[in-house]
Amino acid sequence: MLKGIGRPAYSGIAIGRAYVYHKQQSQLPASCGDSVKEQQKFDEARQVAREQLEELFTKTKEEIGQEQAMIIDVQMMMLDDLDYLESVADMIQNGCGAAKAAQDSGDIFSSAFAAMDDEYMKARAVDVKDISTRLVKILCGEQNGLTMEEPGILVAEDLTPSETVQLPKDKILAFVTRQGSSNSHTAILARIMNIPSLVQTKLDLDADIDGKMMVVDGFNGVCYVDPDEETLSEMRKKQQQATEERRQLEAYRGKPSITKKGRKINLFANIGNPQDVQTALDGDAEGIGLLRSEFLYLGRDTAPTEEELFEAYRTVVEGMQGRRVVIRTLDIGADKQVDYFGLDKEDNPALGYRGIRICLEQDEIFRPQMRAIYRAAVYGKVSVMFPMITSVWEVQKIKEFCAKIREELAAEGIAYGETELGIMVETPAAAVISRELAKEVDFFSVGTNDLTQYTLAIDRQNAKLDRFYDAHHPAVLALMSLIAKSAQEAGIWCGICGELGADAALTEEFIKMGYDELSVSPGRILELRKKICECEVEPQ
Ligand code: PEP
Ligand code: MG
Repeated sequence: MLKGIGRPAYSGIAIGRAYVYHKQQSQLPASCGDSVKEQQKFDEARQVAREQLEELFTKTKEEIGQEQAMIIDVQMMMLDDLDYLESVADMIQNGCGAAKAAQDSGDIFSSAFAAMDDEYMKARAVDVKDISTRLVKILCGEQNGLTMEEPGILVAEDLTPSETVQLPKDKILAFVTRQGSSNSHTAILARIMNIPSLVQTKLDLDADIDGKMMVVDGFNGVCYVDPDEETLSEMRKKQQQATEERRQLEAYRGKPSITKKGRKINLFANIGNPQDVQTALDGDAEGIGLLRSEFLYLGRDTAPTEEELFEAYRTVVEGMQGRRVVIRTLDIGADKQVDYFGLDKEDNPALGYRGIRICLEQDEIFRPQMRAIYRAAVYGKVSVMFPMITSVWEVQKIKEFCAKIREELAAEGIAYGETELGIMVETPAAAVISRELAKEVDFFSVGTNDLTQYTLAIDRQNAKLDRFYDAHHPAVLALMSLIAKSAQEAGIWCGICGELGADAALTEEFIKMGYDELSVSPGRILELRKKICECEVEPQ
């Protein structure tokens, strides 16, 4: 039996087979120098791409609909585009490797499409890029993410947010990573999925553990490979106990979250994409308090279009059946990176070009999001909020931009709905000027993960600093109290969507401060409802 000690990022017991995830190589293979062979490799890759797309077409048509499936159809036609094929063949003739020829031709054609005046042709730039990326991946022998035949425990050195979103979530019983911090987005995702997770686990990945039986104890931060009978039966008992505790919490399902003093607290869920709606409903969420839009941007080669964003938001809004959905605009940057925006590498990404800073400077990134959000608001109760606010002028600019978007939609005759407009308070600057900011918006949602990081000057990603990352620090709690007070004075509602919102040791404190909403991982809702129902305190 091999034992690994880690830091628990989410509790629970999982028992299953280990799947070891290795990073993919994305280097283009060198040309073999033989143009006939390279052309042959390209032709074979084209055939594989066609088969993949045919499968994807059927799946998309069944699961999403004919309209979305047509995008795949267009891509299949592009595989036969004579100009593209000629460009690749010419490059190969001139000594280029097949993968490089597919990539460079894709770049040339994609730029040419993007420069066209016709909106339809412009939109095809994305398809060309998608198809050439697919061909390159096939030629480089890369898989699209990880495939798991049966449910199991995912073991990895580390997982970036982009890698995590591509994993077969329905098959993963637990995450175990050798790196990562308990405040990272991958840990947050494990909480959304409601599965045990360990980070910074001391476990030898070179040991032959792939496929072996494994147990993860997310309560104590331990995992076992090839557990002996005694350990296995102890863990099974613990698993049953956890199941029994959850069963008892079921008494709170469907009950209102009201304190003994009669104060209603909204218990909402944090999610990352439309597939999480079911998890939120299963958790008995009263709404969505944070939809992290950036998860729609990760793990892909191009930015989602307005249409794709609209479909995703509409699915969430409809899925929540009239309950409020708070959509946060893109918070890319820092630990969540995508290549296709071409953002510069920065020395201090957490203090850099991220969140609303990007949107305020790049209309082409901000516009599709806001259009999609307003369009989705036709289908339910939508609130929109903006990350990383530090100044009043930013909020005023956002409001001007939003007014412009609504005018645009009206002029185009496109239906849009009303939304509440709020901000995330997650920088000390925003907390300190919360009184001024409260006059500008309909609500506040406190991002305690970043508020703690910036107040304590501690990188939330740096595993070495986990010990110093103290979200209970009096400075953080003082700012939180100030934020709630500013909201109350202005008569707006105020919630917490950072991880601290789920900390039951602070629930009473938050109610005393005057918070109206806690938005947490779906799996924590019933436990917090019990806590709220037992609370005897009142806002002070
Ligand atoms: C936060 O900072 O607390 C928050 C909710 O946003 P994120 O974790 O996505 O940065
Ligand atoms: Mg944040």
